[in-house]
Amino acid sequence: GGARESKGKAPAVLSFDDIGGQERPKQELIEALDFLVRHEEIAKFGIRPLKGILLTGPPGTGKTLLAKAAAHYTDSIYVAASGSEFVEMYVGVGAGRIRDLFKEARKKASKAGKASAVIFIDEIDVIGGKRDGGQHREYDQTLNQLLTEMDGIHTNESPRILLIAATNRKEMLDSALLRPGRFDRHIGVDLPDKKGRLHILNIHGRNKPLAKDASLERVAEESFGFSGAQLESVMNEAAIYALREAKPLIGQQHLSMAIDKVMMGEKTDREATN
Ligand code: ATP
Repeated sequence: GGARESKGKAPAVLSFDDIGGQERPKQELIEALDFLVRHEEIAKFGIRPLKGILLTGPPGTGKTLLAKAAAHYTDSIYVAASGSEFVEMYVGVGAGRIRDLFKEARKKASKAGKASAVIFIDEIDVIGGKRDGGQHREYDQTLNQLLTEMDGIHTNESPRILLIAATNRKEMLDSALLRPGRFDRHIGVDLPDKKGRLHILNIHGRNKPLAKDASLERVAEESFGFSGAQLESVMNEAAIYALREAKPLIGQQHLSMAIDKVMMGEKTDREATN
């Protein structure tokens, strides 16, 4: 049990410098975090404290990475849960899991002597989807528990809770979650532009032997519409192709094959779900 990392690929300690592109979301998140930690001033000015930050945008764009970097930036411990864990949970179990998540965050932070804990909830739409009059009763309790926990967050408590959630489907969220004092700061995380793609490719190329002719610039140009997760796959697949050919370095041809493979993979994924 306990909170799990939603994805195993990223390193445990992750800073904003490990995230390619996404300059605007990074900036917005840093501003929100800076605001959150200035709780004494916030109280002095009678400002309603920020309870939760919602990251919205397509899959694989770095929302989980941003949450981890937020923990690093604020010197917080990090605990995570994913909405998908709550699917088909018995009535009451989900609510208990939410309660435990907050309890665990406070306990871990205290134990580690940290002033704050980042709680990251991925796929929040599964828990916080629009309530439709009794159809999904088991989620209601879970959502209610989350709302209760959010109402119990105080900026001057120790350790402080920094709640970050992510969704690909913001329009699905119950309005109770979006009210002032709940997730009232939204940060859009979109697919990277060419400059962002190049930055991401460079980050994932850091530990890879690239041939002189291998141009990540060209890959960035030819990967329009790719997410960060897909770009990570391109670099990984290219390395596998080179290794398979027993080449000492990753060449342009390996990168091109990898782009095709990731592109094809996407197509078949989409066809399968259509
Ligand atoms: P989901 O909505 O599917 O949970 P996400 O937006 O949370 O996706 P991440 O889990 O943060 O996406 O990204 C998945 C992986 O893709 C990362 O572990 C990383 O390898 C790579 N990645 C995604 N975006 C970036 C980025 N901006 N910079 C570097 N790597 C990235």
